[in-house]
Amino acid sequence: MNGTMMHESLTVGSLLDHAMNYHAGTEVVSVEVNGDVETLNWGQISHNARRLAAVLDKLEVPVGSRCGTIAWNNRRHLEIYYGVASSGRITHTINPRLHPEQLIFIVEDADDQVLFFDRTFLPAVAALKPKLKSIKHFILMGGRDAEAEAMLDGLKFYDELLDEVEPVAQWPEIDETSPAALCYTSGTTGNPKGVQYTHRSTVLHSLSGNQPDGLAIAARDTVLPVVPMFHVNAWGVPYIAAAVGAKLVLPGPHLDGESLVNLLNDQSVTMALGVPTIWMGLLEAMARTGKKPESLERTVVGGSALPPSMIDQFRDKYGVELIHAWGMTETSPLGTMNQLLQKHQGLSDEEKALLRQGQGRPPYGVALRIVDEEGKPLPHDGKTQGDLQIRGHWIVESYFGKGESALTADGWFDTGDVATVDEDGYMIIRDRSKDIIKSGGEWISTVELENIAIAHPGIANAAAISARHPKWDERPILVAIKNGEADVSEEALLAFYKGKVASWQIPDKVIFVDELPLGATGKVMKNQLRERFGDVLLES
Ligand code: AMP
Repeated sequence: MNGTMMHESLTVGSLLDHAMNYHAGTEVVSVEVNGDVETLNWGQISHNARRLAAVLDKLEVPVGSRCGTIAWNNRRHLEIYYGVASSGRITHTINPRLHPEQLIFIVEDADDQVLFFDRTFLPAVAALKPKLKSIKHFILMGGRDAEAEAMLDGLKFYDELLDEVEPVAQWPEIDETSPAALCYTSGTTGNPKGVQYTHRSTVLHSLSGNQPDGLAIAARDTVLPVVPMFHVNAWGVPYIAAAVGAKLVLPGPHLDGESLVNLLNDQSVTMALGVPTIWMGLLEAMARTGKKPESLERTVVGGSALPPSMIDQFRDKYGVELIHAWGMTETSPLGTMNQLLQKHQGLSDEEKALLRQGQGRPPYGVALRIVDEEGKPLPHDGKTQGDLQIRGHWIVESYFGKGESALTADGWFDTGDVATVDEDGYMIIRDRSKDIIKSGGEWISTVELENIAIAHPGIANAAAISARHPKWDERPILVAIKNGEADVSEEALLAFYKGKVASWQIPDKVIFVDELPLGATGKVMKNQLRERFGDVLLES
């Protein structure tokens, strides 16, 4: 028997329609490649997305095909998100920091028909063009540009294409289980794999991820996603901002600390999101320039572990709340977010701060468990460590183009992370299963060793990795960057560990470097560090 309520498909286009109907005048600010700041509103974004849909129809781009983007966070990228997906095509965001071989691989794997790109990436795209065989239309995200045209034969111009058409009056009917967007995993080992989000998964992720204990973005907010739109859909912010009608600020290419603090203040941003390395840059710039983020209330941090010392710095110096979140490409990405429960309200500030260091709890719509090596569920007691598995409405089932399921026999996705979960569902990532150190049969968490190092005032950033050891198999070593001119020695840093971890967990060696190798999404590439330094303990 059917119920007696209306049924409407959960589609990406319906999110933008809400913004158009009820928040048309709310601003969308976009920093362009040339540094210009454009101010549009949700009404204009919607108009342009509808014109883009008409362009794709005119170019006869088949419904169901993939349209790639290589772009910063800017308003044309936002229009493409909506114009492509709401017209039944699939927005495939490509990480520009990928190695060219990987980029060619994923364009081919996705069979992209169209490639939209920012001016920044024109030389790279022009050079790769002969190898991007599936692309029928190369579209520069801007107006006509003679120099660009000379570099890429047959180049089309986004603004010109839009000017030549009338907007589609309404979106086509779309089955909510059809795909809306495609994003590839960062692929630190092997080739990247595609995760194809459906309209339904995207809408449910937006609604549930934005609950009060989640991102909690409201119409009164001004939101700055520093997290790139090519990194798991900027954590859903472009969709959530439309669903609630928030003012959206898209920061373009300049993500250094000083550009960010200026943008935060110029646009009166209340809420921002990004990976820890971004906030390290912001803290450094604020300390150097004395500037403060005047309107910023809270910041969501995820993508890699948030060093606890950063929470204290933002709170104590700038009155900004840091909210720790965890997720991955395969989880859309919001898997957990850290807010306190009613029963925690009476705790001391220190106790509350301690609870908020972890990665947090799952919102409605996803469930977590930890399992042992045989896949047997382990207790959620906050102590037992196991392989973290997840299931829910916005979790991958199989990778793009791969027939087989990516799940365990009983329907869970194995994240590759090692975690503890407590009785209330608070999850703490202890390590990546391939990064964890096993010394003399005992596990050592690299995350914990890094957090201690970063809390030392003389250290800007650090990575703990395993090094081969003749007696213990593996021992931890620390690769660290000093803070400016700080004069911290190896001995002093190792002494700083005393009393904070068991003595056998203290790293055997510290190697100071000028920079750490960062992957395409800002994570430290520990495999590279292991290749470089993995034998240092054998050499002495
Ligand atoms: P990606 O798919 O590139 O976003 O990478 C996902 C991986 O990043 C996860 O499996 C974790 O290993 C790591 N990660 C994401 N957020 C966090 C976090 N808050 N703390 C620790 N690791 C994280």
